Amino acid sequence: MTEEHIPWTAEYAEHLLPVFGTPAAELDHGQGAWVYDVDGRRYLDFLAGIAVSALGHAHPALVRAIAEQAARVIHVSNLFTSPAQIGLAEDLLRIAGDPEGGRVFFCNSGTEANEGAFKIARAHEHDGGGSRILALDHAFHGRTMGALSVTWKERLRERFEPLAADVEFIPATVAALEAAMDDEVAAVFLEPIQGEAGVLPLPEGFLEAARRLTREHDALMIVDEVQTGMGRTGTWFAFQRAGVMPDVFTLAKGLGGGVPIGATVTTGRASGILHAGDHGSTFGGNPLATSAGRAVIGAIESEHLLDNVARRSAELRELLAGLPLAADVRGQGLLLGVRLERSVAPRLVTAALAAGLIINAPDEQTIRLAPPLVIGEPEVAEFGERWTAACRSLDRQSDDTERQDA
Ligand SMILES: *Cc1c(COP(=O)(O)O)cnc(C)c1O
Repeated sequence: MTEEHIPWTAEYAEHLLPVFGTPAAELDHGQGAWVYDVDGRRYLDFLAGIAVSALGHAHPALVRAIAEQAARVIHVSNLFTSPAQIGLAEDLLRIAGDPEGGRVFFCNSGTEANEGAFKIARAHEHDGGGSRILALDHAFHGRTMGALSVTWKERLRERFEPLAADVEFIPATVAALEAAMDDEVAAVFLEPIQGEAGVLPLPEGFLEAARRLTREHDALMIVDEVQTGMGRTGTWFAFQRAGVMPDVFTLAKGLGGGVPIGATVTTGRASGILHAGDHGSTFGGNPLATSAGRAVIGAIESEHLLDNVARRSAELRELLAGLPLAADVRGQGLLLGVRLERSVAPRLVTAALAAGLIINAPDEQTIRLAPPLVIGEPEVAEFGERWTAACRSLDRQSDDTERQDA
């Protein structure tokens, strides 16, 4: 009897809860900005696991840190601490500019980092800080009930209501924020660039206005840096470009370079809101994840990756200006949204994959690029070739359809 070959797509569909749709490929290993599938096909990874693999794949410093830490101790619980945990908290506060009263809470994901921020906002409400929570139109803060409350898209929310709060969504304009703010506002949640919504940057001056208005009304300014943080936009955190310090900011994605970790960072009076017993996490801040975080920060510093982000970003923008289908580019650093001339983004993603390029379509007319921070000039050039090849194959497909229609 010959063994029946079951394609991995069928096995996936049989065993995994169908919340993600069919995966685009079954990946096996990677090196730098390249990943290989189980059949040995090679892809240039310009998505980095959705802005996660900041150092690319199999970065030696990250591999070494994880291996060495695993050989020492992986987990100690929060009844104990470890040099890695204390070290990463120190590193994070240092790269944030040593904010007064800065404190770090470690968890395991972006949504969980925002749950921590949400609980701080709720506790601030109970302490007399007002009862309204504001978030922005198009916001995405995660999938758990608190983070989902501040997530804008109706389709993600409606089947899970009631959520943790009746959040008020406002347009991302200074005028709308000014009109919405009063002393009843407990907290304002925002992303400096809305990544999931299609890489939509906040308007000029918005972060500064949010800082001023939240201060005037004793509300917490909560900045979700889950996607924009850890150097992705060319500064450690996107709020640093505006010269403001939030009361709370949240991290995950790039922080562990692929090892699951999140962080809720508090500053000033926001550090005094939660007390012993108010919050926690079994895995949060364990030595394995925090040693990965330290290795990521260490490599970004020693390899001058913030400068690299700026250089590669400029090259990419220049290149994209001459590439087919690309109408314009928004975003910052290596978090770019390419608006296409036509609404063919999902088809372009498929064509790109066939041409050995991983990109992503947050909506019908936008391509999101979030390559590893370690890419060099050759990868940028390679991206251009593969993008062009993908566009050509799209054109051929449309020619074929036209011929069939004729
Ligand atoms: C991805 C993302 C989240 C959710 O992170 P998870 O780790 O998937 O829970 C939250 N906020 C922003 C801005 C994100 O990009």
